[in-house]
Amino acid sequence: MVHVKRLELTNFKSFGGTTSIPLLPGFTVVSGPNGSGKSNILDALLFCLGLSSSKGMRAERLPDLVNHNKAENRKATQEASVTVTLDLSDRSPDVEEEDEETDDPFSLANAQEWSVTRRLRVTPSGTYTSTYYINGVPATLTELHEALNRLRIYPEGYNVVLQGDVTSIISMNPRQRREIIDELAGVAQFDRKIELAKEK
Ligand code: ATP
Ligand code: MG
Repeated sequence: MVHVKRLELTNFKSFGGTTSIPLLPGFTVVSGPNGSGKSNILDALLFCLGLSSSKGMRAERLPDLVNHNKAENRKATQEASVTVTLDLSDRSPDVEEEDEETDDPFSLANAQEWSVTRRLRVTPSGTYTSTYYINGVPATLTELHEALNRLRIYPEGYNVVLQGDVTSIISMNPRQRREIIDELAGVAQFDRKIELAKEK
């Protein structure tokens, strides 16, 4: 199974400086006192892969995600970045079959390792830019999502199950629950493309 091998956080939320978090295949537990930054690690994953809105990462707006502990730098442009490295060496064969388009610059074919970086730059006046990179090459969010789809990672796919998600699934009506199954089966992305084509 594809797994996250490493997370690298720079100036993201409570993580000032750069912190590298290695993850092994299987089950990993992060433990620590309240407020020590455990959930911020998951927020970093959601941020980097473009899987969540700022609210989903418990921030009012994106600039709030930049570490604000260094008061002396307020007048300079602030930057936060997160890199997620995925280990693809053990992916399921059906993922490779779908990925034979060699003209795709973000092709996953034959890759053992794959990395995504998102960089957020905030000016002193509060305006900001956000850039995604796949293996160091700038990419749009759509390109990133297309590549992640091939790995069965979807914004609505519950690849990351957050606090409150389980209770919300329990209280859903059957139609809403069916929509989750469509997402996980990969059918919903085609429904979305059909809707998009109809709008055009
Ligand atoms: P709990 O056990 O209560 O769930 P936790 O380990 O999951 O705690 P987090 O929610 O990850 O803790 O971290 C919360 C901390 O992150 C708070 O102390 C908050 O001040 C800090 N924090 C959030 N955003 C920033 C930021 N931009 N700069 C600096 N610190 C921040
Ligand atoms: Mg927490």
